[in-house]
Amino acid sequence: MTYDIQYLTKSMVQTYSRCPRLFKYLYIDGLKVEDSIQAQLGKIFHEAAQYFLEPIRKGEVNHIDCGIEQVNQWLDNFILFENSSPNDMLTPLATEVELSINEPFPLKGIIDRIDLYPTGYVRILEYKTSQKITLTDWRRELHFYKILYENSEDFYEYPVKTLAVYNPRLNIYFEEQPNKKSESALINKIYQIFSDKTFKMKKSVEDVCAGMCEFYDLCVRGV
Ligand code: SF4
Repeated sequence: MTYDIQYLTKSMVQTYSRCPRLFKYLYIDGLKVEDSIQAQLGKIFHEAAQYFLEPIRKGEVNHIDCGIEQVNQWLDNFILFENSSPNDMLTPLATEVELSINEPFPLKGIIDRIDLYPTGYVRILEYKTSQKITLTDWRRELHFYKILYENSEDFYEYPVKTLAVYNPRLNIYFEEQPNKKSESALINKIYQIFSDKTFKMKKSVEDVCAGMCEFYDLCVRGV
């Protein structure tokens, strides 16, 4: 690498997949954008979900005891989800787990949740609060966390059985087993990022980017 990025995060990989030039603006040039309202709401939900799960993880209460008064719809959905199958078989092993690795490439990230099956396998679960289902992005993110988890020094004794997303806004649960195709595509993308020297704009800029990218004027008009 000729530029100063010590670790790749999931968001960085997603941004690069959206547009290499955008990646350059944000992570190499260090230009800033403010979080959208939706991003801020997503952060609030992540914090609330962690608050809810912590006493369960410590064994202080069971799932049924964890009613929360005056929660909003996302948390209502989340509590119902928490009490449903397959969660009743699983033990929350860790939440908001910060991991970093240097091999096979430098990555870091925070896994929302790791759950243990009675059989000694784990599920990696990600909370998503967007209004859209973006299966390709979800798969990329989940395999990012799988690579991170499997190459970290923690939790190595529990193999990954499933990768899952829960979206409390849509009340949708998605789960599947890891697959080689998604993992290989992600690994190729990571190598591509580390070897990229040009960070080209994506194609069809005028059609696709206007109104969609904070850096449109800088990128397209040069102002
Ligand atoms: S305006 Fe389009 S091409 Fe330029 S950085 Fe943004 S997304 Fe990429």
